[in-house]
Amino acid sequence: MTFKNKHLVIFLLIITLIFSFECKNNTQGKSNLDQNKYELKEQTQEHSIKEFSKDTIKKSEENKSNIPDGLKKLKKAYPDFIDSIDNNNLYFKDGTKMIYDDGRKKTFDEMLEDPDLEDMMSQEYPMGKDYEIPDVNEDPGRIRYEPFFMKIYGSSASEVKKYLVTIKWMPKSTNASVTITSRNSVDIQLKAVSDELDKLPQNLKKYVTKTAGTFYWRNIAGTERLSAHSFGIAIDINTDYSDYWQWDKTLTYKNRIPLEIVEIFERYGFIWGGKWYHYDTMHFEYRPELLVSPN
Ligand SMILES: [Zn+2]
Repeated sequence: MTFKNKHLVIFLLIITLIFSFECKNNTQGKSNLDQNKYELKEQTQEHSIKEFSKDTIKKSEENKSNIPDGLKKLKKAYPDFIDSIDNNNLYFKDGTKMIYDDGRKKTFDEMLEDPDLEDMMSQEYPMGKDYEIPDVNEDPGRIRYEPFFMKIYGSSASEVKKYLVTIKWMPKSTNASVTITSRNSVDIQLKAVSDELDKLPQNLKKYVTKTAGTFYWRNIAGTERLSAHSFGIAIDINTDYSDYWQWDKTLTYKNRIPLEIVEIFERYGFIWGGKWYHYDTMHFEYRPELLVSPN
């Protein structure tokens, strides 16, 4: 092969690669439409309570773009912080940006240890009462890209503490109170949960009147990863009726928490650790990005 021909071959190869990459992105865009199930119902005023519910599939102009659904969901779930998105970046209102996909293929353990935003959004959270016992490593919400949460809620214990507020917990049923972040209006969302739990019949209240902790800056037991409790966005309910995979490492799924309670938390943007293969049925955390539709 002559020197000139070699260059021509390389050139054609690059053109083919670019073309096949574009096709792949387009196909992904179409299949992602099927996942478009959830809608954020109320988002009219800055501090109105946001409700989340199952909804029908909607299509929009934005679907035609190559912006990943995960990025669209993040933008929709954190409107106070995210200014805009493009095919692979999220731009914060403070002028900083975050890459969505680092382009690396990872095993599940690598995703847990060293995720990007794409890994964090890679598993779909099954909203509502009809969920199946989670498959191996099906842990939607358990993969967290820490820099994102640090950006929103604070990057150290003292910074997170600045935003913590105390709210009365189920005031019609107990004299308890809990601390939670006021960033992103999580306190208002949790108060809405508390008001609904307060209306439950007596036999269901025992699961939630006694709580087992909200803010605690710490790593998850046996790991270097920060717990969601570090950011003041999580709450553990009564451990007397809870099950946790670390207490029985055979990973045999168990749950005693009634799903009426789970549905209330989900309605206000909290996901439940009981829908994880690594189940943690006392645990709820505010993760609206896993409960909204991308459009
Ligand atoms: Zn927890």
